[in-house]
Amino acid sequence: MLIYNTLTRKKEEFTPINPPNVNMYVCGPTVYDYFHIGNARSFIMADVIRKYLEYKGYNVKYVMNLTDVDDKIIKKSNEEGVEAGNVADKYSKAFMDDITRLKIKPATVYPKATEHMDEIVGLVKKLEENGAAYNVDGNVFFNVNNFKGYGKLSGKKTDELEVGARIEINDEKENPLDFSLWKKAKPNEPAWDSPWGGGRPGWHIECSAMSMKHLGETIDIHAGGNDLIFPHHENEIAQSEAATHKDFVKYWMHFGFLNINQEKMSKSLGNFFTAREVLKKYPAEALRLLYTQTHYGGPLAFSEDLLASAAKGSMKLKNAADRMKEGLQSSADGDFTFDFDKFYSSFEAAMDDDFNSPKAVAVVYDFVKEFNAYLNANENPGKEFFNKSIEFMTKTADDVLGIVTVNGNEKVEEADSGLLDKLINTFIELRTEAKQNKNYALADSIRDKLKDIGVVLQDSKTGTTYKIEN
Ligand code: AMP
Ligand code: ZN
Repeated sequence: MLIYNTLTRKKEEFTPINPPNVNMYVCGPTVYDYFHIGNARSFIMADVIRKYLEYKGYNVKYVMNLTDVDDKIIKKSNEEGVEAGNVADKYSKAFMDDITRLKIKPATVYPKATEHMDEIVGLVKKLEENGAAYNVDGNVFFNVNNFKGYGKLSGKKTDELEVGARIEINDEKENPLDFSLWKKAKPNEPAWDSPWGGGRPGWHIECSAMSMKHLGETIDIHAGGNDLIFPHHENEIAQSEAATHKDFVKYWMHFGFLNINQEKMSKSLGNFFTAREVLKKYPAEALRLLYTQTHYGGPLAFSEDLLASAAKGSMKLKNAADRMKEGLQSSADGDFTFDFDKFYSSFEAAMDDDFNSPKAVAVVYDFVKEFNAYLNANENPGKEFFNKSIEFMTKTADDVLGIVTVNGNEKVEEADSGLLDKLINTFIELRTEAKQNKNYALADSIRDKLKDIGVVLQDSKTGTTYKIEN
């Protein structure tokens, strides 16, 4: 099995440190808001990778951290007049709900930064003792010049790195590239005790401390979106390796961005859709199909049209799965000649090649096509044929890719992609007609009733659109 390793910039044979165990760490969300479908791309592709490793028989310990103390959380807490802890709690719960709806398998552990202060402080202390960190009046920084390998992940040379938006400017630093390990408490901010006085951890050190605590000093896979390569993962390597003198991670994996109008979907640009709003219109399987049809490492240009056609695509798989289940109910024993192994081999060959999910999805569609053709040509292929067909769909398309739900909750039907949209647009048309007939009372009543159920109409020169509130 080959994995593209960001660290070595090539595909490498995957050899876990302690097979059949695989230790995998994925950088999780900062819980200050609902996550958007750009974040969801990273979470879903990490889920597909984890599930394929399990398909291969590996025993995966999967850790995803929740950053629950951070500038963004503190900002939100000040804006809303709610304690930072409550902001984090609310959005941690929302995160759990949303990933469940996205058919993402829960992590083995979801460590929270606030519950790992001892480990974080311990690690910073170790770095200070090693001479890799320095304390300036309660602020502790990592000394980048002291770590020879700095830049090895991002391929950046320290003298080329410039202080920009992503690198904090701070007069206390010896070198502008040095980064915060421990931040001195400011008034009205959450703070914890430490040998340097009250304060809170920097973002990068949280991941190193939690990865080491739950998975050990050297782990197999560490993953996250492309935006985390520098500085987050570069800094994680520096501080972890300076503390342990061991390799921190064997395989670094990074996910390409979900873009919208040629820009990265992001909170700060405001060009995002939350996963929960999208899931009100489209089933999780559709989003997962859209994502798995592109390789995890490359960019993906999002449009609602693409998602709508993915919804149709996943419906086709659902119909095939239903046909298999019906066949199983109604048929007796019988003989068949159908090469299931061929499809398993192609699926595995695709996924073994750096998780080439677009090819794997194509194999599933080929399978469905051949299944349908076989069924049309053979009246009674027998129970075993249907059993094996269901098994193939379950193991590949459902359990690994998550692009169809063979058994259990039929989310595709539940959410029926287009119906809700059509219904709301019908109300919008009725309201427009009412206005044209000068029946403003009816028009307003339609608008208000929709608002009561969370559908907000927005009028503009080009017509009326709607937004579903969370
Ligand atoms: P954050 O909550 O911003 O720390 O992001 C959580 C995860 O989502 C990280 O792994 C990010 O790299 C990833 N991410 C953020 N924006 C996007 C995007 N537009 N496309 C893909 N992944 C993203
Ligand atoms: Zn991280």
